[in-house]
Amino acid sequence: MPGRAQLLTNEGLACNVAGLDNEQPERAFRGVPSVFLRGGALLAVALALAVAAGPRGRTPRQRARPDILLVTLDTTRADHTSAYGYDRPTTPRLEALAREGVRFDAAYAPMATTLPAHATLFTAELPRTLGITKNGAVLGQKHHTLAERLADSGYRTAAFVSSFPVDRMFGLAQGFEVYDDDFTDGSCPTAIQEWEGFDTGRGFCRRGANTTARAVEWLEAEGYLGGRGDEAPFFVWLHYFDPHAPYLPADEDAQLFPSEIDAWLSTKTAAYDGEIHYMDRALGAALDRLREAGRLDDTLVVVAADHGEGLMQHGHMHHSILIYDEDVRVPLIVHWPARIEGGRAIDEPVQLADVPPTLLELAGVPLPQNGVGESLAGALLDGAPIDPERLIFLQRREYAETVVSGHHIEGEKLGVRQGRWKYIEAREEGTAELYDLENDPHERKNVVDLYPDARQQLSKALARWQAGAARPTLPKVDPEAEQRLRALGYVP
Ligand SMILES: [Zn+2]
Repeated sequence: MPGRAQLLTNEGLACNVAGLDNEQPERAFRGVPSVFLRGGALLAVALALAVAAGPRGRTPRQRARPDILLVTLDTTRADHTSAYGYDRPTTPRLEALAREGVRFDAAYAPMATTLPAHATLFTAELPRTLGITKNGAVLGQKHHTLAERLADSGYRTAAFVSSFPVDRMFGLAQGFEVYDDDFTDGSCPTAIQEWEGFDTGRGFCRRGANTTARAVEWLEAEGYLGGRGDEAPFFVWLHYFDPHAPYLPADEDAQLFPSEIDAWLSTKTAAYDGEIHYMDRALGAALDRLREAGRLDDTLVVVAADHGEGLMQHGHMHHSILIYDEDVRVPLIVHWPARIEGGRAIDEPVQLADVPPTLLELAGVPLPQNGVGESLAGALLDGAPIDPERLIFLQRREYAETVVSGHHIEGEKLGVRQGRWKYIEAREEGTAELYDLENDPHERKNVVDLYPDARQQLSKALARWQAGAARPTLPKVDPEAEQRLRALGYVP
């Protein structure tokens, strides 16, 4: 049994799938070439569906393709959420989602930068492969994103984002019928006019409550909160920005976490925690509306962060230049009580690139044969193992030589997590770091000289990845496969 994940029994699997509509699963799964069913998990589900027509759990609203709510929490390090054991109760709503869902305890963003991390989340490719290693780049139209694939499969798609780095001009809007990036409501505490060379005259960000309100307005207007039973499923992306600096939590949230001492870092940290609590409330308001509409348990909710935030653990405040765990280890929680047994935590390493294939497989949408992400659907549905030694690659953008917070910054910084090890290499800076995360989870003691074999092996893995990730374009879906999909009604 992998990690701490529980293995569902056959009975549990049957119970989970028995509530589905009898006809829809056939449409979703019958005749799908096995090449599109990774890990056999969905094949097992499809077979179970063919024989398990029991009434348990069935409701009129349950369909083969679930509504999907993807939530990204900007700048939210996992270990400052109480859902991941933080001692301040910063995220009661995430805690509840984790209790009823599955929590991934070693989930990684590929970079500690907003746009590249989101580009990975929508393509399953790493930033280096995409050629998007900084904010202000553009995800080109040649990429077929998660939103496009879901839209192609009949989903209604809408995004409600909270800051300029994910403005539509940077390419994440492709596939979304609605892309709400209106930052003109005056709620943003950051009044900058120019960012990464772009004019932000329309505003830089908005508060989470306002983003939630816009999403709820759309869900209401489209009948999703009003009990219509036969509409197309929705894919909604909610992006919250509140924990990003400057930390200016609302009084209600700031009062919850007074700074323990009158010191700069303690005050900043308390304010950061207050912002996380505010964002958790904003997300909670959206979840409440889905629950009131009787829709939450049937909605596949995935909550992740785009990256974390340094709070001087390695001598740096904020994010982007370092790839320690406070910068790149993020929350990842999957909540779908109608199908996925909750109350589990999985500690094998996973990454944001795994999210697109996971969502597509859980939605019964054919998986593309590209990307580095691996579907976690098997682990979620039936406790299938995740390779604990899989390689998780990390990176920082390439910098011209500079000094930031006393750090000499030059060139790229690449990292790889494998099992207990995390290796970080910056050739131009002349540094190599190896951490034993089992015994040193906060990456305080560089043991690179103590374990030369591990260093050599991981350095080689980085070099191989670096060489392979240089390929310039994504392979397209094979035309024959596409033809089969059209015949099945998957591609309009
Ligand atoms: Zn970000």
